[in-house]
Amino acid sequence: MMAFEQLPKKDWYSILGADPSADVSDLKQKYQKLILMYHPDKQSTDVPAGTVEECIQKFIEVDQAWKILGNEETKKEYDLQRHNDHSFFLSCRCGGKYSVSKDEAEEVNLISCDTCSLIIELLHYS
Ligand SMILES: [Zn+2]
Repeated sequence: MMAFEQLPKKDWYSILGADPSADVSDLKQKYQKLILMYHPDKQSTDVPAGTVEECIQKFIEVDQAWKILGNEETKKEYDLQRHNDHSFFLSCRCGGKYSVSKDEAEEVNLISCDTCSLIIELLHYS
């Protein structure tokens, strides 16, 4: 039995201060506002070093959030992940992946790869 690894989760919507139902133009607006606010060039020089660090951290997070949510493909994938809160993923040798939600994992025995026709068997320990 190969081990499933759980992907680390970050709530990109809350990082942008947006609702998961917000549309792309709304997300973009929030992104642009935040990215300006946290932009390293926009910080005044007399703020404490810790605050600057924090801003840079935020800047990176906001930028990452937009990279995911601003792209239709990655947004769709992320939304799907959010939906299946406890999903497990396993990489296929073709580069595709097997994915199964926690609920599904209790019911199904076979999972097919999302890009090729390979199927793996889930073993249940109970
Ligand atoms: Zn495959």
